[in-house]
Amino acid sequence: MSRTRTVYLYGSVFLIRADLELRIPKFSERKSSSLQINDDIYEILRRSLAGYQISRSECLRLMEIENGSPDMYHLFFVANRLTHEKFNGSGEVHAQVGIDFASCPRKCLFCVFGSASSEHLELSKEEVVSRAKLFEEGGADAIYLMTTAGFDFDRYLDIGGAVREAVSPRMPLVANIDDFGPSEAQELVDEGFTATYHVVRLREGRDTEIKPETRIATIKNASRAGLKIFFCVEPVGPEHTSEEIVDLMFLGRELGVAFSGAMRRTSVPGTPLQRYGEIRWIELAKIVAVTRLVMGDSVAAHCTHEPNLPSLMAGANLVWAETGPNPRDICPDTSRRGGRGLTVQECKSLLWEAGFKTGRSQDLQHRHQE
Ligand code: SF4
Repeated sequence: MSRTRTVYLYGSVFLIRADLELRIPKFSERKSSSLQINDDIYEILRRSLAGYQISRSECLRLMEIENGSPDMYHLFFVANRLTHEKFNGSGEVHAQVGIDFASCPRKCLFCVFGSASSEHLELSKEEVVSRAKLFEEGGADAIYLMTTAGFDFDRYLDIGGAVREAVSPRMPLVANIDDFGPSEAQELVDEGFTATYHVVRLREGRDTEIKPETRIATIKNASRAGLKIFFCVEPVGPEHTSEEIVDLMFLGRELGVAFSGAMRRTSVPGTPLQRYGEIRWIELAKIVAVTRLVMGDSVAAHCTHEPNLPSLMAGANLVWAETGPNPRDICPDTSRRGGRGLTVQECKSLLWEAGFKTGRSQDLQHRHQE
């Protein structure tokens, strides 16, 4: 007959058979086993740290890393270390003025402007200029002007020109607009724009009414005209596969973009993709870290959106402040009470919390003007 005895373990009471050996790992043993990193992950990270470009299959392996595991923290460490070393611990805040809140003809299933809406708001030229100047005074490192796809291009140029005159000639000015051809790209340059935020979105052509080839053609038109291309893997939701996500990481690299990173899709109430929900910040941080390794030192920064601390500790060093209409916000002015947009100061605080320096350094200005 087996005997039993009572054992107190972590506050719980267990009855165990006295003739069986109770095998609880010593603290030191448990500690060492829980710190182990998989050999293949170690090798990928070691080579990344040494400056080697990682392959697509290696990226897919990194995307399999379990959240919260030692592998994940090693990945975050390597991506974060590389970014701090490359940029001397500097972070950036880019700031976007949304110009119009309108029903957009492109009907992207994740965007608040994609749904039919009778609401139409538009900031006046003076208001756009005023907000751009406020961003500059707040310490923004670049100013973006965003419209829906139906916005008149000539009016956009007029507003852009007014902003260009109002802010420092050294301030990067970024167009975030519909697709455009070579002549429009040149007109943007002539008006003083220095870059465009233009992206091939996840499931472009399925969740949007734009073909991926059209987006790529615009990026090439912009690039040929001398505009820098600001890029991001977005908008990432739980329905996207690792293959889809990794494809966009490598597309950004092939297109020679000035920065990349990752943004999660916000489940905007009333949008068709709301039903899928959102990925967690920790998952986004993993995607940011892998994107950082893919882009290597070919870029001027590594972005994440919406601004979040986990990604800023996993290789990102660029976040966005926002005002005016915002594709992820039902609030018509995202910087007003109840809106999602952060101020430049809030973005700087997040960067500071993650250990970055902020402030418009000469080095940073050069990166965006070279
Ligand atoms: S994401 Fe851009 S193109 Fe798509 S519906 Fe929204 S404003 Fe239009």
